[in-house]
Amino acid sequence: MTKEEAIKVNSISEEYNYISRQKCKCTGEYDKVSQAVYPHELLDQIKAVCKNCKAEKDFWFNISSFFGKM
Ligand SMILES: [Zn+2]
Repeated sequence: MTKEEAIKVNSISEEYNYISRQKCKCTGEYDKVSQAVYPHELLDQIKAVCKNCKAEKDFWFNISSFFGKM
């Protein structure tokens, strides 16, 4: 996923929920590895790794609806 494809969410827990619903190509589930906020772009990047095959994936979220209100 690229940052242009960032998913609009209304809370951090929505980001975690989204990732928990995603499956790797191998059908494994993702585990969150790290999180980075980009305040100027109102984006949140979460790096995750497949619990099964260890493939890494970046998830991008648009946090403009709640950033600064946390
Ligand atoms: Zn996998």
